[in-house]
Amino acid sequence: MIPVVVVGAGPVGLSAALGLRARGLPVVVLEADPQDRERPGSRALFVHRETLALLDAMLPGLAAEITAYGRTWQTKRTLYRGREVYARTFPPPSGPPPFTSLRQVDTERFLRAACERAGVEFVWDAQVTDVRTTAHGVSLTCADGRRWSCGYAVAADGARSAVRRGLGIAMDGVEGEGFHVVVDVADVPGAELPLERVFHYEHPGVGGRSVMRVPFTGGFQVDLQCRDDDAQEEYGTEEAVRRWLPAVVGEAGGEGYGERILWVSTYRFLRKVAASFTDRYGRVLLAGEAAHLFPPFGARGMNSGVADAAAAADAVATGTKEAVARFAEVRRAAALFNSSAAGTALDHLRPRRRIVRVKQRAAAALAPVLPWCGSWLEHAPYGPRHGAPAVAGRKY
Ligand SMILES: Cc1cc2nc3c(=O)[nH]c(=O)nc-3n(C[C@H](O)[C@H](O)[C@H](O)COP(=O)(O)OP(=O)(O)OC[C@H]3O[C@@H](n4cnc5c(N)ncnc54)[C@H](O)[C@@H]3O)c2cc1C
Repeated sequence: MIPVVVVGAGPVGLSAALGLRARGLPVVVLEADPQDRERPGSRALFVHRETLALLDAMLPGLAAEITAYGRTWQTKRTLYRGREVYARTFPPPSGPPPFTSLRQVDTERFLRAACERAGVEFVWDAQVTDVRTTAHGVSLTCADGRRWSCGYAVAADGARSAVRRGLGIAMDGVEGEGFHVVVDVADVPGAELPLERVFHYEHPGVGGRSVMRVPFTGGFQVDLQCRDDDAQEEYGTEEAVRRWLPAVVGEAGGEGYGERILWVSTYRFLRKVAASFTDRYGRVLLAGEAAHLFPPFGARGMNSGVADAAAAADAVATGTKEAVARFAEVRRAAALFNSSAAGTALDHLRPRRRIVRVKQRAAAALAPVLPWCGSWLEHAPYGPRHGAPAVAGRKY
């Protein structure tokens, strides 16, 4: 019997596998996709300092490798209807940077190479369709009939987790109206945009929709927050993006940014947390999007998934029912905190009450004389910054 199987080779499954190898456990990763798959773009960019520290503890040197590739900027800027209300340039960090920004496909590339170096075994084209647990272990069945028996399984098989469904664990939460469009665009060589994060409330160039621009290595991501009654075809197709993108980032000259679009995704506002992060025997541990879905404000998705993965590896290495129960309790409490923090950000960004918009307008008007108003407009879109009470001293 294999000690541990990880289901899913996304960033969370890869981190869990790495964490388990760091504790000397043999690990098999079952992944539904083929080995040469293309992963979707326009997803998580930020890898936060805490996440880098967790990854470095799994494989020393990995954080430096990721940070050397990613980008960290010092300038943050906020505009309101075309007018700047906040701009701050921080001194370069003296120690580890507070975050690094790179496309999720690149983060996964580093994680996968690290797993290979650490001796993780991968089985591709292995779609898990059934799971059974007993007090002694887990049995997993793949679509092609192959079966795997293991002491523990980490379910990191994403938002539609077959393992979670197989265990009959419900996802509780809410699904908001509307969507946003996330676009990855490659830089125009020699005409790169300034290295800064820009949030623009009610951008006049896109009919008053809010929009954020975030740099990553090789380009930038634009996040357009559509209205509840917007049609996806009007904003969320590549053709539609070519129409509205110049109003947000300007023309790059020559062929323009429209020809440099790398990926377009649309993203719905789900806030859901699994009713339990483990099965009744404490043999399967849910991690990442298999366990929780948040809107991306505050970059909680992938970062908290890596924290789940690290905690799952700890619990499995301890190997007691109590350790798994503690993992499930702590990481579920952290997920509920993250869900509520993302909800606070969402209430700010998609106000249900007119008073919120009025407050934002007033803060924008007062920002030139009352800097804290500009600071509030700058920070509110990402939700509260203090840590989750369940994981003292940690953000996720
Ligand atoms: C448009 C978009 C924008 C986003 N923006 C951000 C952001 O700005 N910040 C942020 O932090 N997060 C963001 N996220 C979320 C982030 O991408 C996820 O948190 C992250 O991918 C979750 O990782 P995961 O490993 O849990 O799941 P996934 O990345 O979904 O990986 C799951 C893996 O499991 C495999 N799998 C699925 N089913 C099975 C099965 N039955 N058997 C075997 N393998 C299986 C899949 O093929 C996949 O490889 C965004 C997501 C989207 C879609």
